[in-house]
Amino acid sequence: MSETILLIEDNENNRYLATYLLQARGWTVVHAVDGASGLALAAATPPALILLDIQLPEMDGYEVARRLKADAALAAVPIVAVTSYAMRNDRETALAAGCQGYIEKPIDPETFVDSVEAHLRPQHRRKPA
Ligand code: MN
Repeated sequence: MSETILLIEDNENNRYLATYLLQARGWTVVHAVDGASGLALAAATPPALILLDIQLPEMDGYEVARRLKADAALAAVPIVAVTSYAMRNDRETALAAGCQGYIEKPIDPETFVDSVEAHLRPQHRRKPA
């Protein structure tokens, strides 16, 4: 059972905050700074969940999500889009690309991890303490 979350995010400050919050809740966080390396990492070790920035250099997050969903070995891994795009259309595009959820930046430290964990498959959910 994977206890790893893959974070695909090109902004160092955003990576730092998300990683800090997730690690505080016991998650191992693996990073990729662009779509191609994120896809390679996901294929090498399928994570429990993928947090996906939409605004990435070269391949955008929508394309990353489509490629993940096209891979039979990874299609079941939940993807949560994280984006500062404010337009409602971006949420719909993220969901159409295969993302299960959508979190807006700036992330709220009070609710971020709960929002992420809400999208985990049952076998990766934490038992209440
Ligand atoms: Mn970005």
